[in-house]
Amino acid sequence: MIDFHTHAPAWHTASWLSGAGFDTGDFVAFLDSAGIDRAVVLSHDGLFNPTPEANDELAAFVGACPERLVGLGTVSPRRPGALEEAERLLTVLGLRGLKLHPWLQGFSPHELALDPICETVGAAGGIVLSHDGTPPYSTPAQIAALARRHPRVAFVLGHGGLHDCWREALACTQETPNLFLCICGTPPYAARRILQQAPPDRVLFGSDAGLSQRASQDYAVARVLELDGWGITDEQREAMLDDNPRRLLSGEWS
Ligand SMILES: [Zn+2]
Repeated sequence: MIDFHTHAPAWHTASWLSGAGFDTGDFVAFLDSAGIDRAVVLSHDGLFNPTPEANDELAAFVGACPERLVGLGTVSPRRPGALEEAERLLTVLGLRGLKLHPWLQGFSPHELALDPICETVGAAGGIVLSHDGTPPYSTPAQIAALARRHPRVAFVLGHGGLHDCWREALACTQETPNLFLCICGTPPYAARRILQQAPPDRVLFGSDAGLSQRASQDYAVARVLELDGWGITDEQREAMLDDNPRRLLSGEWS
């Protein structure tokens, strides 16, 4: 099983999660206990404060276990040097793409400064995963419009529209060949409909593990167990948890 949406600890973020106390070893122990072979790890601090240092710390976290952990760094297109930082995190840090969080980072997916950044990620065979499901700046249709401007770059809706926008996420995925939908935080009734109606080769699963200040990842364990209640078939399970994420991570998705 490949979990396509997890987070590094909130080392610095001033929130209820600040000072998260788990390291790479603790995180891999959780993956083992939940039956997860590999995980895509997204920044946490960097979503609140997208700095090169946040990407450095994420790279160190995943670099301690590169055979199990794949990191996606982050930049904000409104910050000076964002394009150079996107290049650096791909080439120097070995991260595999970007996590954008327009809602927390305060930009619109329509901003043109994103275009060279997305092309840089695509040229490296990387992935652009965006938070979605929370208007005004993170609706699935906005992310899909960005994906359509870059048809050779793989984009991922990180939350499948969450509670409010999952129908829009499903429709956008059906209409946009380079857009994948990660079921993560999406309610179970929506997950069932997505599995029935989305292109089967573009559905992913994520647990949001890492959103805890403790080494135990109870929420993520519950999300993995919930899969059994979706009425998921063996074919759907294999596509969502294995084939699709593996193709996407290898760059052979189109
Ligand atoms: Zn998340």
